[in-house]
Amino acid sequence: MKLFRHGAVGAERPGALDAQGQMRDLSLLIADFTPEWMAPAKLDALKAIDLTRLPLVAVGTRLGTPLAGTRQFVAIGLNYRKHAQESGMDIPSEPVVFNKALTCLCGPNDDIRMPEGSVAMDWEVELGFVIGSLARRVSQDQALAHVAGYCLSNDVSERDWQIKRNGQWTKGKSFDTFGPIGPWLVTSDELPDPQNIPLQLAVNGQTRQSSSTADMIFPVAQIVSYLSQFMTLLPGDVVITGTPEGVGLGMKPPQFLKRGDVVTLQAGPLGTQTQRVV
Ligand code: ZN
Repeated sequence: MKLFRHGAVGAERPGALDAQGQMRDLSLLIADFTPEWMAPAKLDALKAIDLTRLPLVAVGTRLGTPLAGTRQFVAIGLNYRKHAQESGMDIPSEPVVFNKALTCLCGPNDDIRMPEGSVAMDWEVELGFVIGSLARRVSQDQALAHVAGYCLSNDVSERDWQIKRNGQWTKGKSFDTFGPIGPWLVTSDELPDPQNIPLQLAVNGQTRQSSSTADMIFPVAQIVSYLSQFMTLLPGDVVITGTPEGVGLGMKPPQFLKRGDVVTLQAGPLGTQTQRVV
């Protein structure tokens, strides 16, 4: 299934795409896609619904994050070799992990807001996934069973706060609107292999990133297993898995976002995002 949430900020309602790709409103049946709806049995219950009997959502309606109530937002850094090289960093021997503030999560097509005084706002197209069932010290073999589904994400970054302000990337990754996810969550049953998804990003129509999750250093199963060795992953947690080469920081000379720029992202079955920098 492809699950989404539609409506104004803070008043989103759940929906799903029907077999024809039309947006259907689920709010008559379900209050919201809270973490408990990410459990395998709950997703199976959603699959049993005849979507064609539900109201259509008007084309052009704003989309929010595809789920509500996320409690942890975790990101992986330097998970593509060429991106590590363009960033001037070593290829990591174990996953690089950092947190993004929950308050940066936003809808896939919301405006992204340049922080006050920022001169180094950058883009990062990434595969995201959502945890479906509690994961604590799980093996790689069992890891994907804990994933409810996948979504497209932009790990918007402010490089000066990330790199020049001492330690901790979290600073440059957490501003409001720095976490667009969606347009929808593709449930795992529709995407059994997360390591073959195209990832593309363009700024003002010019392609900046074009790669595939096939090039990830640490695949999703390894990331879930690794994280679960030192933290408990909860249903509804969002993890984004690193960006391929082609970020503004890696350009010679570096080129960052300006007000009015339009960023577009594509990831095959995960859909598209469009954001305007304001
Ligand atoms: Zn990233």
